[in-house]
Amino acid sequence: MRKQIAAANWKMNLSLAEAEQLANELLKTDHQLSADQLAIFAVPFPYLLPVKTIFAGKTGVYVAAQNCSAKKNGAYTGEVSAAMLKSIGIEYVLVGHSERREYNHESNAELAEKLNIALENNIKPIFCCGEPLAIRDAATQNDYVSTQLKESLFHLSAAQMNNFIIAYEPIWAIGTGRTASSEQAQEMHANIRRVLEEQYGAAVADSVSILYGGSVKAANAVEIFGQADVDGGLVGGASLVATEFAAIINSLKQ
Ligand code: PEP
Repeated sequence: MRKQIAAANWKMNLSLAEAEQLANELLKTDHQLSADQLAIFAVPFPYLLPVKTIFAGKTGVYVAAQNCSAKKNGAYTGEVSAAMLKSIGIEYVLVGHSERREYNHESNAELAEKLNIALENNIKPIFCCGEPLAIRDAATQNDYVSTQLKESLFHLSAAQMNNFIIAYEPIWAIGTGRTASSEQAQEMHANIRRVLEEQYGAAVADSVSILYGGSVKAANAVEIFGQADVDGGLVGGASLVATEFAAIINSLKQ
């Protein structure tokens, strides 16, 4: 069975004390993770180690970086490399979140480089894709997302797709309170799986976890995660409230 995953994206929020408090509160919540389920927390760089320490020993719980450099090392002031993340024991990284695509002008080609360098360092990428509203309104979202996948992913081998995670996040649903309907989510997730199957075959396509992101909360998680090709969620705002995120974890398919 594919891994079912509740991934939190804390973005650029919280002080260290607040981040530690949230992590500790989460530990106290009533949540269950079965053997096929994971909770992954993408936290700001300065909180990676403190939050990892709090979650140490919790089976199925991981800490992720929200980004890594496309470069290996060198004169790139302010950047953080995949090797640095690996050296502190980080196993997951978000690649291509729409906010980074927009504000940092990350192209599909640059994201391909980030995927390469993350994988070279044995860090599992959570690759984000998704269309803006104008594309959805023009009903060309399937082609748009397929192109994102082809241009950033398709140079990877089938073996590299092992443990790969994709997050479909329609930009018009991120932080807006406007969720894609469960039918819209399922339709796109099935499209993504079809595109993966054409390139890598059915076994690989079936093994990749595809998360939905965009205003997921406790109240809509069961419905969205219940769709056949939705394997959990990438959650922004609602991941900052311990009880909300615990309920989202408990909404993962068994
Ligand atoms: C996100 O940042 O990835 C996200 C989906 O945010 P939100 O849940 O707040 O829409």
